[in-house]
Amino acid sequence: MPMADSPKRVLVINAGSSSIKFCLYDMENEFPLTRGIVERIGLDDPRLSYTIKDATSATEPVAVKDHRDALRVIAQHIDRPELSPPAGHRAVDAVGHRVVHGGEKFSQPVLIDEDVKRAIREYFPLAPLHNPVNYRGIEACQELFPDVPHAAVFDTAFHQTIPPEAYTYAMPVELCERHRIRKYGFHGTSHRYVTLEAARILKTSLDQLNLITCHLGNGCSITAVRSGKSVDTSIGFTPLEGLVMGTRSGDIDPAIVLFLMRHEKMTVDDVDELLNKKSGLLALSGSTNDMRDILEAASSGDTRAALAVEVFVHRARKYVGAFAAGLGRLDALIFTAGIGENSSPIREAVCAELEILGIQLDSERNQANETFVNTDSSSVKVMVIPTDEEVMIARDTLSVIENS
Ligand code: ADP
Repeated sequence: MPMADSPKRVLVINAGSSSIKFCLYDMENEFPLTRGIVERIGLDDPRLSYTIKDATSATEPVAVKDHRDALRVIAQHIDRPELSPPAGHRAVDAVGHRVVHGGEKFSQPVLIDEDVKRAIREYFPLAPLHNPVNYRGIEACQELFPDVPHAAVFDTAFHQTIPPEAYTYAMPVELCERHRIRKYGFHGTSHRYVTLEAARILKTSLDQLNLITCHLGNGCSITAVRSGKSVDTSIGFTPLEGLVMGTRSGDIDPAIVLFLMRHEKMTVDDVDELLNKKSGLLALSGSTNDMRDILEAASSGDTRAALAVEVFVHRARKYVGAFAAGLGRLDALIFTAGIGENSSPIREAVCAELEILGIQLDSERNQANETFVNTDSSSVKVMVIPTDEEVMIARDTLSVIENS
């Protein structure tokens, strides 16, 4: 069936290991008709939480044992009478899927066909926690919505413009080629969204824009953007490299892994779990990976929490400095995601020592979470731009369909 001329309803699916986030857009005006999440898939007490038309919200228990069940629940939710499309139109015209790893093959979103599915499967070893669940989401959704186009939007795609000197690790070339070991970067959809937003707000064409974009959420990464394109990013071969994150260590001396295996008799799985799930803010604070709680504890005298904040900020500032040096000219420093959008103390601390780069923060504007939080005399703009990965995926889905 051809896609209806209007309205264009795009369903965005972001499948994680135990949850699936979704958002159904009316792309006439990019309005989220409904958004929500099915959580605790395969665990006790799975539930569906949703908002309809940014008005009514609810959380309901649901019976789901796997991703296929969860998507069936989402399809039933979309079928509610209050979400019915106008007569003669479909409830869903297209589906956009977030896929974490697109390897070196995908620098753009693509329509999903058998070749694309094969490539996503090929990248399972590069993103074992993400690509298999993304893939399961695609398969189940294709069964539920067989007559509509499905597109894949890759987290790695924006970073495919990173040049070899930034993506190559100084390791034996043949080994890296065999296993495709190189920097790939993640959070690309978010970094791209805020880059486009910055160009729109600053009324500058993309090819004139040099940025450093800081995605500081539970996962964190910083990207250097030259002429609108990613030229370096803190995350590497896997999401473990770079900044201090909620439960991930970020950069460490790789010899620490060997040391732990030798002296603590840790296995590969032990170290994997230690660095991915038991490190970062969680390990530093000793109690939580939630930056709000850590900041609160730090301000009431908890010295571990205070050090956690300092380590987090120190690492972020180091990347900003390194990327600024590589860019030569910096137009704006962008903060986004949970911490970047909401935490004025973290933004202030990151920018505190950056006057050498021409970055001057205005405390009042910063505390008010204004879009521009720099002083009038700052030569670099400092901006707070809420990210919206879902709408980016919906736009990409529409554009691949229109251009195919
Ligand atoms: P995810 O990567 O899971 O999408 P988010 O982008 O939602 O994560 O970011 C989650 C992080 O943002 C948590 O550490 C949370 O504490 C932090 N955060 C949210 N609001 C605030 C706030 N007002 N101050 C400090 N940190 C905040």
